[in-house]
Amino acid sequence: MPVLRFDNVSKVYAGGRQALREVSFDIQPGEMLFLTGHSGAGKSTLLKLIHLAERPSRGTVLFNERNLAKVRRGREALHRREVGVVFQDHRLLLDRSVYENIALPLVLRGMKRGEIGKRVRSILERLGLGDRDRALPTQLSAGEQQRVGIARAVVGEPRLLLADEPTGNLDPTLSAEIMALFASLPERGTSVLVASHDLGLVKRMKRRVLVLDHGQLVDDISPEDLADE
Ligand code: ADP
Ligand code: ADP
Repeated sequence: MPVLRFDNVSKVYAGGRQALREVSFDIQPGEMLFLTGHSGAGKSTLLKLIHLAERPSRGTVLFNERNLAKVRRGREALHRREVGVVFQDHRLLLDRSVYENIALPLVLRGMKRGEIGKRVRSILERLGLGDRDRALPTQLSAGEQQRVGIARAVVGEPRLLLADEPTGNLDPTLSAEIMALFASLPERGTSVLVASHDLGLVKRMKRRVLVLDHGQLVDDISPEDLADE
């Protein structure tokens, strides 16, 4: 069964701007794929519907076979435990250490301190941040900040990771590093959806690509088709 299903989803913002038009697709467990399209094509809007920052105007979003329309307003937090989000500007708390930033989602769900410590240290090691736990975000390089943002998004072991232009501010070497990191997540059962307008980067990854154009899903390219090009 898919981890995510969009069924004829449309989004019209207040004011009349139509950001998505009858979009349908599935994401399978453990799949990594890209979402691409020009600026304003609807990529961020699509991601927002998945983590319930926005609601669809028409159509259905199913997450683990659960209709997200049934998640009542004000009750989004439980759903968000299963969906990790990485933002381009990482949105770290600047007055908290690396350790505290990563621990936060676990603290909020009331996990025991010992368990939090184990999980945070394990993810710090995996992301090559083992010695940066006491640093403040402002003391980190751009690549390190982005890795902390990723650590915070995956520490709760979400079913699905969403990343909105996660390499937007990074040089090509760091971008490749971050992508390799994402690519390693499906092995652990997390599906990964990355929105990016960097077509070169997307093609190099040789994964499935969803293409949005003015809110319409105009292409769903399989890795095999990319290999042919
Ligand atoms: P992308 O992420 O591909 O750049 P967006 O999803 O941000 O695209 O935007 C899709 C369209 O919806 C654009 O025309 C944008 O101006 C519009 N839009 C996005 N957010 C809002 C909003 N909160 N209110 C009104 N219009 C919006
Ligand atoms: P967030 O990133 O916190 O979800 P947004 O950037 O989506 O916030 O939107 C913040 C506010 O700015 C929204 O209430 C929306 O009305 C407005 N807004 C954002 N993008 C657009 C846009 N492209 N066109 C018109 N209004 C927008």
